[in-house]
Amino acid sequence: MSGVTLSNIKKAFGPVEVIHDVNISIEQGEFVVFVGPSGCGKSTLLRMIAGLEETTSGVIDIEGQDVTHQEAARRGVSMVFQSYALYPHLTVFDNMAFSLQIARRPKDEIRAKVEEAARILQLDQHLDRKPSQLSGGQRQRVAIGRAIVRQPKVFLFDEPLSNLDAELRVQMRMEISRLHNQIGATMIYVTHDQVEAMTLADKIVVLKSGVVQQIGSPLDLYDNPDNQFVAGFIGSPK
Ligand code: ADP
Ligand code: MG
Repeated sequence: MSGVTLSNIKKAFGPVEVIHDVNISIEQGEFVVFVGPSGCGKSTLLRMIAGLEETTSGVIDIEGQDVTHQEAARRGVSMVFQSYALYPHLTVFDNMAFSLQIARRPKDEIRAKVEEAARILQLDQHLDRKPSQLSGGQRQRVAIGRAIVRQPKVFLFDEPLSNLDAELRVQMRMEISRLHNQIGATMIYVTHDQVEAMTLADKIVVLKSGVVQQIGSPLDLYDNPDNQFVAGFIGSPK
């Protein structure tokens, strides 16, 4: 089944086009990494999929439904923000419950969903703590938990680990991989870090200046880079 399909997507800010005719097909359950240097358009693509930014032209389809002009809240996507976006005055439980409370879901449903997310993320012992009482890794897991409770079809990650130190980045990378295996949702992960891309992705989309350079598995890109840019970026000898 198709997860997310981008067809002929363009985006201009005023007169400046920054995304040029992008086509990407993502299968349901795939882990896809958008990689490319700063300013190449990764966040803009993600924000258009999330519905936080209008497309200038083209079609976005999620699991067979055209969502191009649909409001963000109805698309079934959740964006994972960096851990510093937690509410400092709320407990872990309330941070994770917040979007469900806003949506006026029943209390017992909220509790069940938050507790399940906490189990998946090994936060069950910390539900009453405030973010300031957590480690960096635990805070990042709460940020992921806020997305999980909404049971999205698609998870969107925009450089979620860029604030963490190197050791914690490696650990969180493995946790995100485990999460993907466990819940099987479609995940789109943006990074400028080649190593992160190569270790996490089923499929990598290499971007440069708003143009897709190549789409393939990590091995495809390493063994058969389409051009110098991909070769240089992925680190293979072409
Ligand atoms: P990345 O996430 O890959 O670093 P972005 O998607 O943030 O890149 O940005 C892509 C291009 O679009 C950049 O040239 C950036 O300056 C431009 N851009 C992003 N958002 C805006 C905006 N709101 N207004 C004008 N230009 C923007
Ligand atoms: Mg960005």
